[in-house]
Formats: sequence, structure tokens, C-alpha cells
Amino acid sequence: MVIKQGLVSWLLILLGNSAPVFSSGTPLTHGAHVHGEAVMNIVLDGNSLFIELDSPVINLVGFEHAPNDEEQVSALLKAEKTLASADRLFHFATTKCSLENVEIEMPYSKNHAHKNHPHPPEIHHEHADLHANYVFQCEQAKDLTAISVNLFSLFPDLQEIKAQWIFQGKQGFASLTASHPTLNVN
Ligand SMILES: [Zn+2]
Repeated sequence: MVIKQGLVSWLLILLGNSAPVFSSGTPLTHGAHVHGEAVMNIVLDGNSLFIELDSPVINLVGFEHAPNDEEQVSALLKAEKTLASADRLFHFATTKCSLENVEIEMPYSKNHAHKNHPHPPEIHHEHADLHANYVFQCEQAKDLTAISVNLFSLFPDLQEIKAQWIFQGKQGFASLTASHPTLNVN
């Protein structure tokens, strides 16, 4: 299932262009690139829960360029592995949601280590984003009242997640932080 950048289109379709949250021009910030911030779109459709995360790479590994050494290569791999461990990242109340699919797109990570001929230093800074897509199946979607996002302790450079959600026709927006990592959806 390819849902890269698909949730936002879906959100727009579900809500229609007249929805105030979109017609005001905010807070849908897909594609925005602000260091320290990430964007999360969450859609519950039936018992299927779709979570899309977009974050500047620098929030996850502390740099934002092709890796220059082994340490940076492993930092990227470690971040990718952490993001794939969905069970560590999300906690659901008060129903059980099981991971069905996860897709992580981490820039620079495709066996890009040039051991014997390292990349030259970056001349100019180019921003890059991590995209992660998760699909869960919930046992009782109607009982899903909150989603706790455990990303701030794993990635201390991440300061805020702008989360937008649509649950069974209801919609909302929340700013998640280390001190308020729980999205209430009821
Ligand atoms: Zn950047």
C-alpha cells in the first residue's frame, strides 16, 4: 500500500475544501520544514488507523546532510529502526491497535557509506525530511479515545508535533510536546 503523501489528499477529500480548518490556510502544514517541529496526520476509517509523520531529518539525528562518516551512517540507521518500532512510538487508549504496515523513508540511508572516498563537505545546506507511514488495525475503533506519542524522549531535538486528526467524521488539531504528548480524540 503506497500512502506516501496520500493522507493529506485523503483528508482534503474527506473534509471537502470548505472545511474551516483548511480554508483558513492553517493548520495543514504538510511540506513545511521547521527545525524542531514535525507534522502528523491521523485518520481513523472504520477500524483502520493511518498515521503519517513528516519530520526534518535534523530532529532525528542532529544533522541534515548525507552522512560523512560511519557514526552518521549508524545514526541514520538507528533512527530508521526506532521509527519502524511502532509499538514503542504509539500507545492507544482504550482499545488495542495492532500494527499492520509501516513504511519509513529516511533520506541518505540507502547504503550510502563511502568508506574509502568520503563525501566532500557540503557546500550548501539542503533540507531533507523523513516520511513515515503507519497502518494499524484497532479492535474497537469507537473505544479509541487517546493516542500517546512517544517520540520526544526518543528524539530530544524534536520539540513539537503538529497533529491533525479525523476520527469517524470528527476532526481536530493539537500541538504535542514532551510535556503534552497525548492526543485526545474524544
Ligand atoms: Zn532542514
